[in-house]
Amino acid sequence: MRTAIIGGGAAGFFCAICLKEMVAPMEVTIFERANRVLSKVEISGGGRCNCTNSFRDVSDLSQVYPRGHRLLKRLFKSFGPAEAYSWFENHGVRLVTQDDQCVFPQSQDSHTIINLFLNEARRHHIDIKTAQKINSLDTLSDYDFIVVTTGGAPKEGQLDWLQQTIVSPVPSLYTFNIADKALQALMGTVVEPVSVAIPGTKLRATGPLLITHWGMSGPAILRLSSYAARELAGSNYQMPLSVNWTNRSEAEIKDVLTSIISDYPKRTVQTQRPFGLPTRLWNYLSEKCLGERAGYRWQDISQKELNRLTNLLSNDNYHIAGRAAFKDEFVTCGGIALTAVNPHTLESKSIPHLYLAGEVLDIDGVTGGFNFQAAWTTAYTVAHAIYSESKS
Ligand SMILES: Cc1cc2nc3c(=O)[nH]c(=O)nc-3n(C[C@H](O)[C@H](O)[C@H](O)COP(=O)(O)OP(=O)(O)OC[C@H]3O[C@@H](n4cnc5c(N)ncnc54)[C@H](O)[C@@H]3O)c2cc1C
Repeated sequence: MRTAIIGGGAAGFFCAICLKEMVAPMEVTIFERANRVLSKVEISGGGRCNCTNSFRDVSDLSQVYPRGHRLLKRLFKSFGPAEAYSWFENHGVRLVTQDDQCVFPQSQDSHTIINLFLNEARRHHIDIKTAQKINSLDTLSDYDFIVVTTGGAPKEGQLDWLQQTIVSPVPSLYTFNIADKALQALMGTVVEPVSVAIPGTKLRATGPLLITHWGMSGPAILRLSSYAARELAGSNYQMPLSVNWTNRSEAEIKDVLTSIISDYPKRTVQTQRPFGLPTRLWNYLSEKCLGERAGYRWQDISQKELNRLTNLLSNDNYHIAGRAAFKDEFVTCGGIALTAVNPHTLESKSIPHLYLAGEVLDIDGVTGGFNFQAAWTTAYTVAHAIYSESKS
């Protein structure tokens, strides 16, 4: 029996190797359009490959998979993060879990993963054909099974040749342009944790925020770009943004400011910073709110000014004026609709023996190793489905 895998990336290789481990006599060929395979794995995680996550801090999969969490919840029961971790370790790759729960090869080098995949492919006699772009299923008619692992397809119409229902693609995981020179002057400032939201919606995210020379970045912003991927694309990346610089409620913020007034009445507003905010940020915020009175003593701050400061810290408004690439990771939201595949096997409902895995599906996660985990899980699911089918 023969299986053709279209796409020599993370999901394609993982599926090919798992399939050969399950059905040794299966002839497996990977078709890759580029001259080299696994190019995204190579640059992933800044060249270190954040290959999965411990999921210890994840109480609900929808927090980390805005698209695809229900399907993944089901598939993780067969092959989830713990199984992926063991798979790599059992294949000789030592992994380390960072404090933020991201998992990397101990070598801190993506080539460790690439070398593993290439060595396993060689050992199992998996045929790798590079510079072979497939854009018609007819060319593979003499294969028993076809697996599509072509990755994110950011352009409309790119997947039409597969004749499946498509959820139109939009980008996810990017940073925001904010045209505010005074803010941009604070580039390099990290504030943790903040919460950011699109006013008038339920879309919000929490985490560290990094001010850049073009606007805002950092985990909170990247998460919001993922949660709000469709809304932001629909507005052509022009939307209001609200920042709560403290990630606390208005009442808590007011309490803290009131106790500063009673504990440090003679200190100036700028010298006595609340919430450990970075000095440059606090100078910017207090001047924005109080003007030259930011240099006055806390005891001279009126009730009205206290309210204005509270409001600014909890709901500081900006305008998103475009998006900028995040060099460490960007993914496509959209792809083959999950309604088009059997949720147990990821086989196309309309074309028998055609399977789909990886980012080509309408599944995407936030940063932290979640996208590779989705690739391993869906690729394993397909390998297992082909194994079961080949026995019958
Ligand atoms: C810069 C960057 C860094 C990232 N870092 C991380 C990270 O650290 N952790 C994480 O979890 N995720 C990360 N990601 C996301 C992750 O790389 C992807 O989600 C993952 O690679 C998806 O795997 P895949 O196999 O589905 O697609 P891909 O890895 O993109 O592989 C698809 C392959 O198919 C080939 N192909 C496409 N069309 C055809 C065709 N018609 N015929 C033949 N071949 C075709 C492509 O050339 C490609 O080689 C990163 C992404 C980027 C862009």
